[in-house]
Amino acid sequence: MKTSIATVSVSGSLREKLQAIAAAGFDGVEIFEQDFIADESSPRDVGRLIRDHGLDITLFQPFRDFEGLPGAQRTKAFDRAERKFDLMQELGTDLVLFCSSVHPDALGGIDRAAEDFAELGERAAARGIRVGYEALAWGRHVNDHRDAWEIVRRADHPNIGLILDSFHTLGRGIDPETIRRIPGDRIFFVQLADAPRIDMDLLYWSRHFRNMPGEGDLDVRSFTRAVAATGYTGPISLEIFNDQFRGGNPASVARDGYRSLIYLMDDVRRAEPELTVDLPDMPARVAVEGTAFVEFASRGAEAQALEHLLETLGFAQTGKHVSKDLTLWQQGDIRIVINRERQDFAGTAFNVHGTNICDIGLSVTSACDTVQRATALGSEPFQQPLGPGQLDIPAIRGLGGSLLHFLDGSDRLSAVWASEFAATGTAPGAHGLESVDHIAQTMTYDEMLSWSLFYTSLFDMDRAPMVDVIDPDGLVRSQALKAAGNGFRITLNGAETHRTLAGSFLAESFGAPVQHVAFATDDIFATAQALAKSGFASLPMTENYYADLVSRFDIPEDQLALMKQHNILYDCDDAGAFFQIYSQPFAGGMFFEILERRGPYDGYGAPNAPFRIAAQKRQMRAKGMPRR
Ligand code: MG
Ligand code: MG
Repeated sequence: MKTSIATVSVSGSLREKLQAIAAAGFDGVEIFEQDFIADESSPRDVGRLIRDHGLDITLFQPFRDFEGLPGAQRTKAFDRAERKFDLMQELGTDLVLFCSSVHPDALGGIDRAAEDFAELGERAAARGIRVGYEALAWGRHVNDHRDAWEIVRRADHPNIGLILDSFHTLGRGIDPETIRRIPGDRIFFVQLADAPRIDMDLLYWSRHFRNMPGEGDLDVRSFTRAVAATGYTGPISLEIFNDQFRGGNPASVARDGYRSLIYLMDDVRRAEPELTVDLPDMPARVAVEGTAFVEFASRGAEAQALEHLLETLGFAQTGKHVSKDLTLWQQGDIRIVINRERQDFAGTAFNVHGTNICDIGLSVTSACDTVQRATALGSEPFQQPLGPGQLDIPAIRGLGGSLLHFLDGSDRLSAVWASEFAATGTAPGAHGLESVDHIAQTMTYDEMLSWSLFYTSLFDMDRAPMVDVIDPDGLVRSQALKAAGNGFRITLNGAETHRTLAGSFLAESFGAPVQHVAFATDDIFATAQALAKSGFASLPMTENYYADLVSRFDIPEDQLALMKQHNILYDCDDAGAFFQIYSQPFAGGMFFEILERRGPYDGYGAPNAPFRIAAQKRQMRAKGMPRR
């Protein structure tokens, strides 16, 4: 399998695009004619430039409005085609995409179109060129790959074949299983794109909202399985028109593209084991069992304040690192590390972001498999010099400058706590906090797809539908991801403006990746009482909030009184009930959340978010935060 991407999918000049595409690991590019025309070099030089990047030109695209034209217009269309054939020969590529006509004068008729292509096939053959025909979803007469295939079949010329595009098939709701009937050697090229399900004009949707396979809602997987079942062995290419990507960073868009393609093809191979999909071996998506640790980079008074906050939450310092300036805090299954080192990764992270969560440890089935899969998907393994007594724990760089370490049940890795930390002899605290329920990461809105693809391609995690969180100063999009078995959850919060709480955190922390961590308790009321005794300062909620709760839900008097007393927030749905307590913001806008899920409630209290955010903003104003 040759991996390819259309130049139109990536932002920048042709040279910037090629560099990003080659660096991401693709084998080839589709040259979008506009990108070529915008460049100053001759076709021959552009061709050389592409090959110098180690890339093949997999396709030249697009040629529009060819078939079905009458009289002089038909002659002109053939002349235009000849000129493009000249250009292709100079560029050094033999395959061109003809998309179905939208010309107002084009005449319908399968046979008429087939005759045009049979004649074109003769002219193409004379030049050693192949022509692929693609049904545009909004084509005037041909808008279905089944009709395009019938035209190709009747043209009956070895230089005329079919081009399939997942967007045009799936976007119109055409059953991709119909592809299985097409002989694989008659398919010349396959383009892939996903898209979010939005009801809008097909052309507008296609030109602005396509995204990488796995980022949208179309069944690109079934489409690709059907293609693979035909015996097709040509390039698999991404053709993504997306406003965000066009304005995004070329290198990261290209990396996401590569990740999505490898993820998809690996999936296809697993679903259709009898097929030969030429792809390096890689382990399947990794099961995450839970959060093994959360590591803060901090220093001085901020580190002391954080440790005090942990004490009021019922954590106890159970260990001190044997060679580094690290303290270990525990409660239930939760481990928090505070790293005051100046030299290592944490030191750098502190210098950039101030106090922040620089590293997350995940419990996985196999740490080695995780790093192997991550690397196959284009992630960078992480290593730093080990201090005395330190274990080499498998790790990768996450997004936003973060780190992910992986622990598993192997003897070597499960010994990390006992071998790296000297026990203080203090028993873990007992305020009822059992585990990390979720980790909330904040990023700009246009980075959200990238983060969500990062997690879902590496881990066995599913996406919940995106929800809008109403901040008094703007909208924040929130996307929850959940591991099978519920042991690991992440919420991704995409900020569009710095005036929102998420946006100001992002600006103030210079892009620190984690804004809050939520701990789970089995009994929020018992926990609230223990917290009150240890002097925990919860986020004050207003009378108005509780008055509104009473109008929406039946809450017994005594329970309501306790909720008011301890600033407990509430939500419920058909599945169950949900209770939350928030800490006051610290270190530039981070916070902790304590929650209880009663019944299989699967949400995150989104209806409470506007009131929680307003309360946090009041607090931050009162404390003169943000500080920087
Ligand atoms: Mg296409
Ligand atoms: Mg939360």
